[in-house]
Amino acid sequence: MKLLENKVVIVTGAARGIGEGIALKLAEQGANIAFTYVSEGSAPKAQALEEKLAAFGVKAKAYRSNAGVFEECEAFVNDVVKEFGTVDVCVNNAGISKDNLLLRMSPEQWDEVMITNLKSVFNMTKQVIRPMMKARKGSIINMSSIIGVRGNAGQSSYAASKAGIIGFTKSMAHELGSRNIRCNAIAPGFIETDMTHYLKEGAAAEEFLKKIPLGRFGTTEEIANTTLFLASDMSSYVTGQVISACGGLNI
Ligand code: NDP
Repeated sequence: MKLLENKVVIVTGAARGIGEGIALKLAEQGANIAFTYVSEGSAPKAQALEEKLAAFGVKAKAYRSNAGVFEECEAFVNDVVKEFGTVDVCVNNAGISKDNLLLRMSPEQWDEVMITNLKSVFNMTKQVIRPMMKARKGSIINMSSIIGVRGNAGQSSYAASKAGIIGFTKSMAHELGSRNIRCNAIAPGFIETDMTHYLKEGAAAEEFLKKIPLGRFGTTEEIANTTLFLASDMSSYVTGQVISACGGLNI
């Protein structure tokens, strides 16, 4: 028996990176996957992922939907419920970083990060709790970051958005626990994706790796494994938690 047989899972921002790894891992465990991307340039990758997911024998569909826009999330979740019947698990993964020292950060840069990373989680959660409350079960998993826990110079907007996700996650655990809906966050450290490839270049890279007890970046599969735990009944008594998957960077 697979861990997510016949479950309906939403993953936002899954055409590449961590989201793609999560979609693949959860489909391997029997989940039907509805996933989003936002850039036109990612459409071919989304199409290719749809095919890879279907090869696991599950239903899979890509949607172009901006997680930062409330009405687009509403339309997306309505379409998923029509097409897939319900939503059992929602992984709020879509995110961006626009790093800059506060002195140089514009209000527009600040807003873009807060809307894409934090408002998106509000937008999506507000929609998915309707089918989840009806079913009296559900698991919501929000992608925070170790930077949201400890902060970082040059990343104030990113850190604030990811810390905001943690407060939101814990509040949802309080609000939704009585409906058997769990809500948890993952705080990844540095994971090898487009978002972090610049960190692996240059002389500073070796120094940087010394700060990570496990001495290496994480993989998208390692974050997908943590997500699988939180999505499945393996974590049925876990809610309101922030699970760090960061190679020990937080100790
Ligand atoms: P990538 O930049 O590799 O991928 C980001 C994904 O999010 C893309 O699929 C992108 O879509 C999508 N996306 C961005 N904005 C939106 C939006 N408005 N609506 C819908 N989708 C959107 O990032 P990662 O895979 O590295 O990161 C995934 C998540 O994990 C993020 O929330 C990030 O903050 C978090 N994280 C990452 C870490 C890392 O080290 N990589 C560490 C800690 C947390 P498109 O392809 O269309 O552009």
